Amino acid sequence: MRSEARRQRSAGAGVALDSAGKRTIIMGAGPAGLTAAYELMRYGVPSVTLEKDARYVGGISRTEERDGYRFDIGGHRFFSKNREVEDFWTEILGDEMLTRRRLSRIFYKGRYFDYPLKAGNALRNLGTVETARCVASYAWARLFPTRDPRTFEEWVTNHFGHRLFSIFFKTYTEKVWGISTKELSADWAAQRIKGLDLTTAIKNALSPWKKSGGDHGAAVRTLVDEFRYPRRGPGEMWERVAEKLRAGGNIVALGQEVVSVRHDGSRVTSVIARDAASGQTRDVTGAQFISTLPIRELAHKLEPAMPPWVVAAADDLKYRDFLTVALVVNKREVFPDNWIYIHDPSVRVGRMQNFKAWSPSMTPNQDTTCIGLEYFCFEGDGLWTASDDHLVALATREMVKLGMCKPEDVMWGVVVRQPKAYPVYDGAYRRDLAVIRDHLAAALPNLHLVGRNGMHHYNNQDHSMMTAMLTARNIATGATYDPWKVNTDAEYHEEARLEDEDISGRLVPSRA
Ligand SMILES: Cc1cc2nc3c(=O)[nH]c(=O)nc-3n(C[C@H](O)[C@H](O)[C@H](O)COP(=O)(O)OP(=O)(O)OC[C@H]3O[C@@H](n4cnc5c(N)ncnc54)[C@H](O)[C@@H]3O)c2cc1C
Repeated sequence: MRSEARRQRSAGAGVALDSAGKRTIIMGAGPAGLTAAYELMRYGVPSVTLEKDARYVGGISRTEERDGYRFDIGGHRFFSKNREVEDFWTEILGDEMLTRRRLSRIFYKGRYFDYPLKAGNALRNLGTVETARCVASYAWARLFPTRDPRTFEEWVTNHFGHRLFSIFFKTYTEKVWGISTKELSADWAAQRIKGLDLTTAIKNALSPWKKSGGDHGAAVRTLVDEFRYPRRGPGEMWERVAEKLRAGGNIVALGQEVVSVRHDGSRVTSVIARDAASGQTRDVTGAQFISTLPIRELAHKLEPAMPPWVVAAADDLKYRDFLTVALVVNKREVFPDNWIYIHDPSVRVGRMQNFKAWSPSMTPNQDTTCIGLEYFCFEGDGLWTASDDHLVALATREMVKLGMCKPEDVMWGVVVRQPKAYPVYDGAYRRDLAVIRDHLAAALPNLHLVGRNGMHHYNNQDHSMMTAMLTARNIATGATYDPWKVNTDAEYHEEARLEDEDISGRLVPSRA
């Protein structure tokens, strides 16, 4: 992908001759939308990016700010096996990109377990008696496995024993997905944990790089141990891209919600954007249209409406939502990790981010620490609809319960909600997606879907960006890249990423 694009650009072969006639309207100023606009600018194609947020660009990868404290929605590591993406980040931010060492652990019943797990540390933390119980429970599971395991719980218990399942898999998985592990499908566990069982895990833990070997092993190790991060959080990347776009004569307009997408039956002709401040709407015309909007929302914006079976397929797509309660604590250090997984069943928080450990510039006063307590939820459920005061009080209680601070250490807190953080891969999503995709490709060829929710793909920033780069090249040069293949063609070492995996999961389970 990279060399082909370079060749085209340097030869000027694909540069759009009637670039003005290709004016592209981009819906959403997250990583995908802004990358598309930036790539189009490289080819001389003008763009208008419409973003509904009135203050921030960056989408899920934005950096929110209150009183000089900066919050990252989830903790965004910048790492990619794709050199072109890495080069893009370097080109935009240069020295502002820090290289950070990773430290992340699991907190369970007052103890910190290294994550990725290390045998010696795990054994020390569990203690002799608990280790003996885990081994006995594993032996039992090997002797008397559940035949044809159907659920996540059965599958993991077969491979690790019930005790280890309870400690390292059950609580966190249930917090993230809001579904009992008795209901999650075994397929997901099998796919997620691959062929691993306790014996292999111990062997790997004792010689973690043996499996990878040589240079490849070193590369994997680097990915596991280090990542890049903009000094002022992930949003800095996207704020800078927006600045460059504006300097290049393009429009990036905030507070502009796309409320409808108009078409004549064969092409999209314009979008209607509503201004957040005045409430007024305006018609924005263009030749090409890129959407990074969640597909379920896009489906209801098309005018005239799509056929009912296509809308029904879009309505069937599901999402998991997410909120962070950021607490400013009057302590120099709460814990040294970048983030901690909270497996402890006595609290609802699923993960904690220590923003200062990602970059000291995220915190204006180094005598204080800002911790983001992450709660996984569904839009509209009790957590989502709870008042900010209630959530700050809950987060404070939970920090105290986990022994991380005293109530009087918490100076203040804010809540940041992120709807549709995770597109859910359930049993029906592939079929639904195919229905929508096939319909739009045939009916409206100048409407392009890119990004994470834009394609209902569980993409990190790099994959979201790659779908945008390819689409922009298709528009600018008439190339025929297939952005839907990014996940399979991206030359990713998914094995490597799995070891390094944020266990909130890039993979998403379905019900048994
Ligand atoms: C908890 C969590 C942790 C993550 N960690 C990492 C990580 O470590 N590394 C990494 O690389 N990636 C990570 N990601 C993934 C990353 O956040 C996404 O891949 C990326 O933000 C997707 O970019 P996007 O532009 O496709 O979508 P989004 O970021 O969702 O942006 C879409 C934009 O469209 C706007 N929009 C929506 N509706 C409208 C409308 N009607 N009109 C106008 N604008 C609209 C939104 O406001 C938003 O700005 C993480 C994600 C989550 C949820």
